[in-house]
Amino acid sequence: MNNNKDLWDSVLNEMELSLSRANFTTWFKNTLIISSEGETIIISVPNGFAKEWLETKFNKKILESLRNHSPDIREVKYIVGSPGKLPKREIIIEIPDKIEERDEDINQTTNLNKRYIFDAFIVGSNNELAYAAAQAVSKNPGKMYNPLFIYGGVGLGKTHLLQSTGNQVYSDNPKKRIKYIPSERLTAEIVESVREKTIENLKKRYSELDLLIIDDIQYIAGKEKTQDIFFATFNELYGKNKQIILSSDRPPKAIPALMERLRSRFEGGMIADIGAPDYETRLAIINAKIKEKSIEFPEEVLSFIASNIQKNIRELEGALNRIIAVTQIYNRIPELKEVKKLLNTYLNAPFRKTTPQIILKTVADFYGITQLDLLKRSRKKEIVRPRQICMYLLREEARSSFPEIGQKLGGRDHSTVIHAYEKINREEQEQEAVKQELILIRERLYQEFNNK
Ligand code: ADP
Ligand code: MG
Repeated sequence: MNNNKDLWDSVLNEMELSLSRANFTTWFKNTLIISSEGETIIISVPNGFAKEWLETKFNKKILESLRNHSPDIREVKYIVGSPGKLPKREIIIEIPDKIEERDEDINQTTNLNKRYIFDAFIVGSNNELAYAAAQAVSKNPGKMYNPLFIYGGVGLGKTHLLQSTGNQVYSDNPKKRIKYIPSERLTAEIVESVREKTIENLKKRYSELDLLIIDDIQYIAGKEKTQDIFFATFNELYGKNKQIILSSDRPPKAIPALMERLRSRFEGGMIADIGAPDYETRLAIINAKIKEKSIEFPEEVLSFIASNIQKNIRELEGALNRIIAVTQIYNRIPELKEVKKLLNTYLNAPFRKTTPQIILKTVADFYGITQLDLLKRSRKKEIVRPRQICMYLLREEARSSFPEIGQKLGGRDHSTVIHAYEKINREEQEQEAVKQELILIRERLYQEFNNK
């Protein structure tokens, strides 16, 4: 087949043979292939009705027929609209937020997805500590930091970093026994093997590993049986200098209902956090992703995306995929105003409400000091506390990483920031007055932004 038109014509010919004239015209008139990237074919249909019918009644046939001519095709998508111009209303294309997990990317033994590699990981000030630690561990598993505990909010690259480490160890030495598992899956395995009375088997399997990677360990909170078994496995691996890597959405201290002995194990190695990426990092990530797809966007479009999609990298990818999909479907690069429209759903989300600058200003105003006071090295009580509050809010509200916060507030060490964060965090939970104080500051924070 030399082009989409020939391909689709031959599908239509086959469909015509198996359908009544009326049926054929109703569902297939004014349809055409508008994009055939790799395994996915996108077919434009004249209306929602046709889309639904083709999807539910004819998809299997269409796919079969397409595959007869072009065996690589795996999937057909239908969209309503005509090619060439962007529709007036927002286009509805289902673009998965997560990169699709393709079975062939997953190693059956290690459970690692080969897509996640260090080379595809952009390093910025938000993740450099975690990245360096992961690299060090991959070069010397079991000997550098054990366990390596990486934490940070959703979509900031924890899974990517964990799996990259596993993939690196694996490619350096494919004989190493490696297992990657999300903690919910581990819990499910344990529950099942308790029921089937094969728990000793399970323990044995895990204790023979060279590298055990558990993602999202916070979910073992309150799961005592899992914690028990994990504790035993942990000790055994640790005792043999086998590497353990864990991720969590929060530091060990903040995981509720975690056995004290496990908590202290988690804290016994290296703890590194990943914060929200800054503008430069976001731009670098966007550039890397579009380069991968060999697409070029105008500078203003890139900087618009980088300045406006701030919450996390998963969302950044989602936004980018949306624009890339539209670019491919309509076969041209959308203009800035179209991009703005396309990203509407992201832009109206509440997370955009604040920035580090606003936090500094609001906190200074609230306590009647200057922003410079927050940055100076003063130890005066009336300055120290607002500074700690500021650190806490930079972390909580702007998702900055601890090293970044330290840098922003007059070049302080990240351990100072962590100390401040934990102190205020505790006080907020335990002291009503502090809680109220923070409510007031947060109110101003968001008001401040809305007034702008
Ligand atoms: P988390 O596990 O923290 O929720 P993920 O590791 O799943 O986040 O990351 C979300 C998406 O963003 C993934 O597709 C991942 O590849 C991508 N990503 C995250 N951090 C980076 C980075 N620093 N460079 C490039 N891609 C990244
Ligand atoms: Mg993850």
